[in-house]
Amino acid sequence: MKMSKLFVQTLREFPSDAEVISHKMLVRAGYIRKLTSGVYNYLPLMWRVLKKIENIVREEMDAAGAQELLMPFVQPKELWEESGRWEVYGRELMRLKDRHDREMCLGPTHEEIITSIARDGLKSYKQLPVNLYQIQSKFRDEVRPRFGLLRGREFIMKDAYSFDTTQEGLEKEYQNMAQAYTKIFKRCGLNTKMVQSDSGAIGGSVSHEFMVITDTDAGENDVFYCDSCDYSANSNHAVSNLPTEGVNITGEWSTAKIIDTPDTLSIEELCDFLNIPATLIVKTLVYIVDKKPVLALIRGDKQVEETKLMNAAGGSDIRIATAGEIEEMMGVNGFDAAKGFIGPNGLKEYNDYPITVIADNTVKEMKNFVIGINQKDKHGVGYNWNSEVKLPEIVTDIRLVEAGELCPQCGKPLKVTRGIEVGNIFQLGTKYSKPMNAVFTDIDGKTKPYIMGCYGIGISRTAAAAVEAHYDDHGIKWPLSIAPYHVVIIPVSTKDEQQMKVAEDIYKTLIKHGVEAVFDDRDERAGVKFKDADLIGFPYRITVGKGISEGLVEFKVRETDEISNIKPEDAAEIVVTAVHNL
Ligand code: ATP
Ligand code: MG
Repeated sequence: MKMSKLFVQTLREFPSDAEVISHKMLVRAGYIRKLTSGVYNYLPLMWRVLKKIENIVREEMDAAGAQELLMPFVQPKELWEESGRWEVYGRELMRLKDRHDREMCLGPTHEEIITSIARDGLKSYKQLPVNLYQIQSKFRDEVRPRFGLLRGREFIMKDAYSFDTTQEGLEKEYQNMAQAYTKIFKRCGLNTKMVQSDSGAIGGSVSHEFMVITDTDAGENDVFYCDSCDYSANSNHAVSNLPTEGVNITGEWSTAKIIDTPDTLSIEELCDFLNIPATLIVKTLVYIVDKKPVLALIRGDKQVEETKLMNAAGGSDIRIATAGEIEEMMGVNGFDAAKGFIGPNGLKEYNDYPITVIADNTVKEMKNFVIGINQKDKHGVGYNWNSEVKLPEIVTDIRLVEAGELCPQCGKPLKVTRGIEVGNIFQLGTKYSKPMNAVFTDIDGKTKPYIMGCYGIGISRTAAAAVEAHYDDHGIKWPLSIAPYHVVIIPVSTKDEQQMKVAEDIYKTLIKHGVEAVFDDRDERAGVKFKDADLIGFPYRITVGKGISEGLVEFKVRETDEISNIKPEDAAEIVVTAVHNL
């Protein structure tokens, strides 16, 4: 490819609306252009990168025994009603009507469709197990599309679905996919960590995510991990043991009473006022889960993990209640200080829904504690469960883990880092096959629902994550395996015949050996060409300049920025060998 013909416009500046590196770099280097919020044009350079990632994914999925197909992007409501998800999938599901007023949606994921395909074609245990996958655009009307390709509304995903006759079969396939994923990300030049995670809207019980670890804002997930053993989990799923030494959870009040606690709106203010540690306070937080009111009780020094709370409440959407809603629950008007004094006692219902109270495990053993009693400027102190206040029926883990708490596997302190989720794997079981009556006849003659798994990889997110992991101030440093082109050849002066001849010879030799090369034939200053080469991120740069009079070219490796002066044929050989070893 001649640089003069390559469809690419690099920009002098980073785009002003971009917050993270991959978004900034991909726009500035001419890979993507925004069409509308969360929707991007993949320009030729980007499309080459995406196709390379797709091909790696394809090769490894095929090698793992999966078969590729392609399902429609538009899906009918009826199938989503069969699975029960038309009701529960939130506003991320883009719903629309056709000219006959039939309701449809844009595919955010394809469990319903693949299950309908399976039940039509896989009738006997003899046909199982099967793993089917596709690579396709998805649409999710994300609340906050951001970070360019990392969280778009339209994005490219590989989604695979397995069908087994037994749980053991599913577990085997789950391991098989975990191994394929590890290979895929390694081949894409990414170090990933496989971490335990929550199953979310897709459902099922066991799931893991593949995280690219990063210390930047682009990592939207907190990953807790242990250096001493292999424990690692997304914060929405992580658990920990709490240190007990020196932690006081029994108050010194000899009797329960209500006392004045003026203006103590926060836990800190209440601690200061009573001169006690937060571990003696039962904190009450108010949430709305799928429109229903939920109170969360947790030890004063700990935070609630909202996904855990949402799961405990059996919902699929969660938000913190507004001050107005809290006042209404407490039956007080114009009481803007409600927040600091709410508690579980005496609250019955809200908006025709009973109030669900969920306690975190941390409050269970607390004694003579402090708690809100729904009266302004007052708290109950010296309270105990089931004497002054009832211990809720649901007592479970809704706590956000913090670094330094103890590993649930080995007891050593946990660490935390940020991660970008590039893929995930789920054991779905019969979550879709049962309601959709997707069954096969087993060896014993009985009909049974398939035991399913599903496995996703964000193709476009993986490309962006690769940029987050490989860049410097001057631009992208693509791993060779997914770079749009392997090498750029730059003649310093296009007017110098010898330079042009040598450069063209190298270019032709490389092309002949299957290397994807760009020849920068533009009549530009060498500095301009070097800048573009760094920004675009070609893994190798061969510059033909004055040194050619001594038979040498300049060879640059973008990853390390190492430069050497070597013979043209040696430069070509290094590149050819590297490409053939991919
Ligand atoms: P997230 O928690 O980041 O929203 P998810 O749990 O919704 O992801 P899945 O539904 O399992 O993700 O989708 C499979 C893969 O698709 C993810 O691992 C991720 O790589 C990718 N993906 C999901 N949502 C987006 C998005 N909005 N933009 C780009 N890629 C996405
Ligand atoms: Mg999502």
